[in-house]
Amino acid sequence: MKRENHYIKNQELILAIEDMTTEGEGIGKLDGFPFFVKDTIPGDRIRMIVTKVKKNYGYGRLKELLISSENRVEAPCPVARSCGGCRLQHLDYNGQLHFKQNQVLNCLKRIGGFEDASGKMEPIIGMDDPWHYRNKAQFPIGINKEGKAIAGFYAGRTHTIIPNTACMIQMPEAEEILEKILSYMDRYGIAPYQEKTQSGLVRHVLIRKGFHTGQLMVCLVCNGVPDDLTNRDELIELLRYIPGMSSIIFNVNTENTNRILGNRCITLWGKDNIEDTIDNIMFRISPLSFYQVNPVQTEKLYQKAMEYAALTGTETVWDMYCGIGTISLFLARKAKKVYGVEIVEQAILDARQNAAANGIDHVEFYVGKAEEVVPAWMEKTREKIDVVVLDPPRKGCDRELLATILSMQPERIVYVSCDPATLARDLKILCREDYRMEKWTAADMFPQTSHVECVCLLDKKVPDTYVKFGVDAEDYYRIKASEVAE
Ligand code: SAH
Repeated sequence: MKRENHYIKNQELILAIEDMTTEGEGIGKLDGFPFFVKDTIPGDRIRMIVTKVKKNYGYGRLKELLISSENRVEAPCPVARSCGGCRLQHLDYNGQLHFKQNQVLNCLKRIGGFEDASGKMEPIIGMDDPWHYRNKAQFPIGINKEGKAIAGFYAGRTHTIIPNTACMIQMPEAEEILEKILSYMDRYGIAPYQEKTQSGLVRHVLIRKGFHTGQLMVCLVCNGVPDDLTNRDELIELLRYIPGMSSIIFNVNTENTNRILGNRCITLWGKDNIEDTIDNIMFRISPLSFYQVNPVQTEKLYQKAMEYAALTGTETVWDMYCGIGTISLFLARKAKKVYGVEIVEQAILDARQNAAANGIDHVEFYVGKAEEVVPAWMEKTREKIDVVVLDPPRKGCDRELLATILSMQPERIVYVSCDPATLARDLKILCREDYRMEKWTAADMFPQTSHVECVCLLDKKVPDTYVKFGVDAEDYYRIKASEVAE
């Protein structure tokens, strides 16, 4: 029952937290009126200050913890509360896994209408050591009150940088790299970029690491050209001896945009890209290409996707949204033929090169929008597809693509997703007629944050029962059993 809202800003209230939003904020209700409070978890009883009141809900700030949830832990990172990166450090790891699994389950039930989703669930795949797991970091660079260059992450919902070079979910080398870049900038007066005035040079520092090869890439995203980095030889000297350093890149981004990377990369030192392996397959990674950020979990996720694809060596498979061909090459080890499609051209160049470097020649990659490339390909070839693997970005799949997949009638569809809401929306469309959700597994690719990955298997509902219907023994038509009556 909802009561007329009579709460006001800055009011102090006592609240019991019962649930969590998908973003990781605690939810508690007073007479049916919900409040969202950051840094709280179910089981907490808190004193809060009302920060915002809307018609049907409000926001609060944690003032005092009166009773602590049994899942609460001390966040190990000193900036955990102010930094917008990790939302769940105060929740113990089992609690995080439980929260993520439930998040997917709720979406499948509420958005997808899969009432039996809990019966189809396999246990979430967690990490043994959920720290320092990321192989890619994009630190915004800014300036502090003393005029010194800083690096860190944005506070939640703002572009205010919370200075921190020792991020606990990034690769450990990030700290040394950032400290060296910041000291170089201060020494030579290289200005950090400022969004308000669109002035200054260095916008972001992107760091990538191949966890298996140890190779490191540093990419300075700048509002300018390489010559603007005065004394840049000194910067290179500072960075090149860090163990594993393989590539120092200058990325040009002179636009007034929230996009981090510009399209142009200039190599200042070392190679144009780095390499990494996943389950003994070698991948070349360019600064602009997508590559899964948690290598330990990626391997487990792909193995699950492989298990669901249940390949025997005779299948023709489509890998849609294939990036640099990671899943495609995994699939190719057990498939007759694999097709991949991806919108970023550089990623497809990497994918082709990756296939060649691994001696895999039964894969074919296309550049373009999946929703345009696949329908056109299908129209042209009419080839029988056995398995479709999908791994779209957060916004999920285009309707046109889903319609094409349904017309392809593969035996199985394996849907890998980083957004359970769009996953559930798309599965509902795919399972309207011919497909049934068989099973699903959540995987924790992003410990300490509220994000969750998921893989889901769809099977053909009723295998087409064909009957032989012939004039004579040699000459028969294959007709669906359901059509015989007609
Ligand atoms: N399967 C890959 C990449 C998954 S991320 C892996 O596991 O590494 C999703 C990918 O979809 C990104 O590489 C992105 O560039 C690509 N993408 C986004 N929109 C697309 C579209 N409309 N058609 C094809 N690819 C798209």
